[in-house]
Order: sequence, then C-alpha cells, then structure tokens
Amino acid sequence: MKKLTKEEIRKQGYEVGLDLVGFASIERFKNAPIHMHPASIFPEAKTVIVVGKRILRGGWRGIEEGTNWISYTYFDYHGLLNTFFIPEPLYQLACFIEDHGYEAVPYYPGVPEAQNPGKPLKKNQSLPDVNLAIRIAAICAGFGEIGWSKVFLSKKFGPRQRLHAIITDMDIEPDNLVKPGSICTKCMKCVEDCPSKAIPHIKENKKVQIEIDGNIYQWADIHTGKCTLSYHGGDSRVSPFIHKDFPGWNIDASKQDFSEEAAYKFCWTLSTARWRKTQQFPSGYIVEGHAMLQRWGEAGSYGICGSRGCMRSCFDFLEQQKKIEQRFKGGKFIKRKRWLLPYRVKSK
Ligand code: SF4
Ligand code: SF4
Repeated sequence: MKKLTKEEIRKQGYEVGLDLVGFASIERFKNAPIHMHPASIFPEAKTVIVVGKRILRGGWRGIEEGTNWISYTYFDYHGLLNTFFIPEPLYQLACFIEDHGYEAVPYYPGVPEAQNPGKPLKKNQSLPDVNLAIRIAAICAGFGEIGWSKVFLSKKFGPRQRLHAIITDMDIEPDNLVKPGSICTKCMKCVEDCPSKAIPHIKENKKVQIEIDGNIYQWADIHTGKCTLSYHGGDSRVSPFIHKDFPGWNIDASKQDFSEEAAYKFCWTLSTARWRKTQQFPSGYIVEGHAMLQRWGEAGSYGICGSRGCMRSCFDFLEQQKKIEQRFKGGKFIKRKRWLLPYRVKSK
C-alpha cells in the first residue's frame, strides 16, 4: 500500500473543498476530560485532523444591514454549512485516509457540556455521549486560538469558520501551535457590541484558561444564558420579529440571568411552537419569523443575533488590523451606522 504523507492529506482536503486542515497529536489532549477525549471515541487514536470551512463574510450582510435573515441561517449556520458543505468533503477525506489503510472516524461536533444521564456501557469508560471541545481541538491542530469572545479565531479567517474533525490511528507529526495572543488583540470590540452583554470585559477578570504544550490560552467566561437568549430569539433588540408577534414585550435580555439550558428552552419554545390562529396572528406560530427561520435551518438551528459582537465586530476589526489573511477589495465590513432595536415599545 502506498505510503501516505501529512501534506498529501492536507492537499486532498483542500481539493475536496475544505478551507482548513490541521493535525493534532493525541498527546495534546492529555488534559481533556474523559467525556471530551478523542480516545474515548477511538481508543487507538493517534491523530485528530481538524478541518474547517469558512463562513462567508457576505453570509452576514443581510443581518448587518437589517434586511435579510434567511441567507445566514440557510447557508452559513445550520442549514447547509454545518450539515452539508463541511460533512461532505470531510467524509471524502476520511475515505481517502481509509483507502490508505488507516481507520478514519468522521466527527460531527456536538455539545460537550450537555451530558445525558445514565451509566457507561462498559467499566472505566465514558458515558455513550462523548463530544470533543472542537474549538480546543482546533487550537491543538495549530490553525488558531480562541479569542476573548470564546469564538475560535484562525489566522486565515479570524472568527469566520465552522469546524469538524477526523480521528485516526495514523501517526502524523502535529502542526505547530499558534502562540496565545497572536490573533486576538484583546480589543474588546466583541464586548462592546454584544447586545446581551454576555461577554465580560477583561477588567472584570472573569476568564477560563487551558494549557497545551506549555502554552496558556485564555478567554472570557461567557454568560452562555445571555448569549443564547440573544442568539436564538429572546432579545427584541436584535430580532425584528418579536414585537410584531408580542406587542408590549419589554424584556431586556442583558438583564436576564437564565442558565444556557433555560434560555434554550425559553427561546426554542417561543420560536418554534404554535398557538391558536386568530385574525391578528393568522399563522398560528408564536413568533412566526423565528419559526420560518428554523425551518430554513433544515430543521436544525437558526440564528437571530447573527453574532453581532463576537464575530461581525471581531472580523471587521481584525481585517483592518491586518491580523487575518483574507482581505476584501470593498474595504470594511461594517460600512454604515449599525442598527439595534429598542427592547421597550408600547403595545397598541
Ligand atoms: S473582538 Fe476579537 S480580537 Fe477583539 S477582543 Fe474580541 S475576540 Fe479578541
Ligand atoms: S452571539 Fe450575539 S449575544 Fe452571543 S456572544 Fe455573540 S454577539 Fe453576544
């Protein structure tokens, strides 16, 4: 069987349509908990190949201008990017590796924090619910770091990519790590422009840190409940759909203290469930605009906030600072005064 090299795998990954391909040795996961460890999925694992595909800058244009939400959800979030544009080339790359005699486990990034109750199927192993911390895996694979916003930043696209991985028993030399602070400048644009105030300022000293190969990576300890409330449709300042269906809704998302799980339950119920049809609300959806978006997310997730601070403000800044490689001839992304709706309006 022909010997396979790291650069041949990377080249093949780019040829089938991936934008980022990086290599992490299994040793770099030595501090990972058992329910997030690649070897819990594949005990013979020697390498985790983390792959990424860009989120189009233009995918956010409609939300940035306040005119179109569907394109982002459909193409760049849970519609096609996460469920087709990455998994298809990832699967082809896994086939290519198996054609050379190595087992290749295709990994779809789930939510490592959400552990189901139950018992392991065998003694001394994890519950059957293992998920990698994919952003940390991406640091291990050497194409970036986690920014203060907790969003993964690559040298090529900044915060604009989604990530998957392949776990393999092929022993591959790992890529060099990106040193902490090489991309994120701690500019705090993400903090200033987050509508729900979910990202603490660096002065608050609320942070998380990990160590990989002697490097300390730090990011903000995000209030994930506040973020979820904005992202998934509980924040009327970033949703043009709420006040239409909820006259008198005066809830300031930045002042809520929901847990992440509670925020999901709240937002998803409001955004996807039905209520009776009336003349005033003929669709029968509780928030019709959110329900339509969720359907365009291929029955997956949907994005309302569209990462106003943690992605859009971040890449706009990093592009201007020349901290990321991809550039655009038309200049800055944020070209006009930005919109933010009032959270308080009178019911008619
Ligand atoms: S906006 Fe981006 S670069 Fe600036 S602090 Fe936040 S994550 Fe770092
Ligand atoms: S997705 Fe929106 S609410 Fe969440 S951290 Fe980013 S800017 Fe803030």
